[in-house]
Amino acid sequence: MGAMRFPSGPESNAMSFGRDDIGWTPIMEEAQRATRVLHPDELDLPRPKNRRIITVANQKGGVGKTTSTVNLAAGLALHGLKVLVIDLDPQGNASTALGVEHRGGVPSVYEVLLGEISVADAAAKSTQSDNLFCVPATIDLAGSEIELVTMVAREGRLKEALNAEAVEALDFDYVFVDCPPSLGLLTVNALVAAHEVLIPIQCEYYALEGLGQLLRNIELVQSHLNPALWVSTILLTMYDGRTKLADQVTAEVRGHFGDLTLRTVIPRSVKISEAPGFGQTVLTYDPGSRGSMSYLDAAREIAERGAERKTA
Ligand code: ATP
Ligand code: MG
Repeated sequence: MGAMRFPSGPESNAMSFGRDDIGWTPIMEEAQRATRVLHPDELDLPRPKNRRIITVANQKGGVGKTTSTVNLAAGLALHGLKVLVIDLDPQGNASTALGVEHRGGVPSVYEVLLGEISVADAAAKSTQSDNLFCVPATIDLAGSEIELVTMVAREGRLKEALNAEAVEALDFDYVFVDCPPSLGLLTVNALVAAHEVLIPIQCEYYALEGLGQLLRNIELVQSHLNPALWVSTILLTMYDGRTKLADQVTAEVRGHFGDLTLRTVIPRSVKISEAPGFGQTVLTYDPGSRGSMSYLDAAREIAERGAERKTA
């Protein structure tokens, strides 16, 4: 007979995966983790008193802005909160990961910024959850940094769109805005529209390079356009426990940002990077994976901290 032993006898059965069972295996551990993701009732996330609008920004490319946006949004949505993701990057990666159409011609954030359609008209339901919506970005957005320059109230177009009555009616708990890797007018629009900024920092060489510039830009927006804005969250991403460097970066970031840094650190994980190729977040692509659990933990931290904090 096979060598693998499963728990047996009257006190234990294969479904009750107690850690003390002799037959505890990594597969069972993963199954239990998946159960936590897929049976959200076990995890009660607080609903914020007021809608939280969180801009995910870092002008550095490839640090995990989009990955964090879609997975945090999915984590909150899978646990009953109503979430909108606004894809403000012409690359449209957030739209892809959320399974939302973004070929040229579909109603998108571009028309929203032009004031032609409302956010409600452009928001499409994600394949990932009935509570998760996305305003997609199409390639049309690529020219908008230049087009916006000549527009009236060019920095406040997204804010205006999000204030509209149509959005009120949709009653989102969270709005996440995924920024492009630049500090241009699209990112400024995202900063003006938001209450909070979440900065993902990759645990890599030069992680902190450019952060000063980002923080100065945030201060400029605070002092001239959006006094309520604040950096509420720092998220360390792509942590590789095998390297000393990752720990150095983590320590440096915590030393600098203190409690703004989430306790949860997102590990480097192949599953996380594979998921968008299937039009999915890692939470549905591989619910029991470490990457999935870490984003779920980060989402819970954000939800719990938000409940304690001032709301704008
Ligand atoms: P851009 O600046 O181009 O918008 P970004 O900051 O949005 O990039 P992502 O697109 O989220 O960054 O991530 C960059 C790349 O790293 C992607 O290929 C993504 O799949 C991969 N990636 C992100 N997070 C992880 C992780 N935790 N483990 C492994 N790969 C990751
Ligand atoms: Mg991105």
